[in-house]
Parts: sequence; C-alpha cells; structure tokens
Amino acid sequence: MKLCVTGGAGYIGSIVAQALIEGGHEVTVLDNVSTGHAAAVPDGCRFIRSDIRDADALAKAFGAGVEAVLHFAAFSVVSDSVNRPLVYFDNNIGGTIHLLESMERFGVKRIVFSSSAAVYGEPEKLPIVETDFCKPSNPYGFSKLVVEQMLRASRDAWGLEFVSLRYFNAGGSVADHGEHHEPETHLIPIVLDVAAGYREKFTIFGDDYDTPDGTCLRDYIHVYDLAVAHILALSAMDHGFSGVLNLGSDRAFTVLDVVKAVERVTGKKVRYEIGARRPGDPPALLASSKEAERVLGWKKTRSSLEEIIRSAYEWRLRHPKGYPS
Ligand code: UDP
Repeated sequence: MKLCVTGGAGYIGSIVAQALIEGGHEVTVLDNVSTGHAAAVPDGCRFIRSDIRDADALAKAFGAGVEAVLHFAAFSVVSDSVNRPLVYFDNNIGGTIHLLESMERFGVKRIVFSSSAAVYGEPEKLPIVETDFCKPSNPYGFSKLVVEQMLRASRDAWGLEFVSLRYFNAGGSVADHGEHHEPETHLIPIVLDVAAGYREKFTIFGDDYDTPDGTCLRDYIHVYDLAVAHILALSAMDHGFSGVLNLGSDRAFTVLDVVKAVERVTGKKVRYEIGARRPGDPPALLASSKEAERVLGWKKTRSSLEEIIRSAYEWRLRHPKGYPS
C-alpha cells in the first residue's frame, strides 16, 4: 500500500515505518523533526520534513495517491502537557484537524491513530477495557480523547475509517531504532542511563500511591509488538473494523519493579531517591488487550519486562548519545 506516516522520525513512528517498509509498503514520512530525529527515518522512506499543519506538505504527501495514514505526530509528555496545555492542544488537536481536512480533500479515508491509555485518567477498576469511562487526568490524555471524537465524527460525516490504538507504556528497541527524547522523561531509558553510568541517580515520583509498594503501576509493552499491531490494524480496516483498541502487555509493574528488573538484566546497581508525585500521573494503569487480540489476531511476542529492558539497554549502549542530530 501507499502510506503516509506522520511523526515517522519519532520513537514509535519510525519503528512502525521500518516495519511497513519491510512489509513491502511504499511509505512517505511527514515529520517536522521538532521532537524526532531525521536519522531515525528508515531508509527507503520518502521524507517530507514539514509540519502536519502545512497544507502544501500534506498535498505533496497525499498527491502521490496515499491510501492510508498512520498518525503519530504529536507532543506526548504528560508532565509537559500539564505545564503547557495550549501547546499540546494546538499541536495534537489543531494539527490533527489540518491532517483530517487534507485527508478528506484528497479522498484518503483510512487512518491508524496513535492514542494512549492516558485517555482513561484514573480508572475505577483494573484491567482497563475499551468501554471503560474516559476521564483524562492531564491535557495530553485529553488531546488524544478529543482526536478520537474527531475520528468518530469524521466517520459519520464523510466515511473515514479509523483504528485508534491506545498504547500503554511503550519501551524497548528493534535493530537500529530505539528511544531518544530530549529531554528524556520516560522511566525505562532514565533508569537504564543510571545503570549505564550516564546518570548518577534518578528520582521516583511518589511512593505514597495506593499500589503494592506505593510507587506508580504501569503496563509496559514492547515497541516491536506495537508495530505489529499497526500493520494488523491496516488489514482490520479491509475487513470493516473501525474503533478503539488497547495495546498493553496485560501485566503491571511498579516503578520499583522496573528498578529491580533493570538491576537484574544489567547486573548494575541503580541509585534513586524518592521525590514528590509528578503532576498528571495516574496511580495505576493496566490494560486488557483481549479485544485487540480478538479483532486483530494480535499476539505479543516480546513484551516481557526483561525483554523490553534488555533490548532498550542494548540500543542505549550502542548509541550512548542517541541519534545523531
Ligand atoms: N517515573 C519516575 N521517575 C522518572 C520518570 C518516570 O518515577 O524519572 C515514573 C512516573 O511517575 C510514572 C512511571 O514512572 O509513574 C512511568 O512514567 P513514564 O514517563 O515513563 O510514562 P507515562 O506513564 O508518564 O506515560
């Protein structure tokens, strides 16, 4: 298929773009490289270095007869969204409005959307299923939920078909692609940097949550398994599916569990201190991905916590400075 991947220079987008190229698809990456890295765009992709709010760039991407879009371009740091909500609404919601307008204009009627477990907020029960109530705890989650509403409304108004994939906590690396954010805010790369000696210690954001050891509980999913789900989502639309799906490992770990797993996998001691809670953090998130397994035929093969950490560590050691800028 001819596909457009927005945000294809980012962590998850570039790994999905790579998987699509390997699957024989023709891929155009549209990315303004504001948070991503040009070096992460896989070989074999056509690369348009532009913003999704740039109508000419979208015309260039869609003019080539694109059949579906995989939409990753967004800001994605929860704590940042609490401090800069309007920036998040502008980019994540405003940007997607421009994208959808161009898709409608060019008759591109399929989209796989990069959504998030952040849409649920503080769930009343675990594991979370797709029909549970959504009440985001932060502007980032709210921006993703609004986009999902826009996708539904566009389906009803002009026949858009969509699959919105609500990721839990992505981690891990594949071959030459890994996680590199500036600044890094995500738990696994930060803890690995402590293990690797690139940082002295890190701060655990709160140990007074109502969880087994007081630190936040999360469901970590390997980025490779996420990539597989995107490819299956494209096929699901061939069979008439439109809707939202959770993607997680269906197992939850506290921050301290992650620290212990990193120590086990790397053989290094991890120094940490306990700090205040981070604004916008829900105490516990755990997926039920049964619906994705049923609808997509999705099977997770790499999402043990050890494999996520092992592959992320390997990439970090090989790329101590991340991608070249
Ligand atoms: N976390 C932490 N210290 C850090 C970074 C993250 O204690 O330096 C915690 C954070 O509070 C959350 C979990 O690790 O409970 C996962 O955070 P991350 O930023 O990786 O993903 P999020 O769940 O925010 O999408």
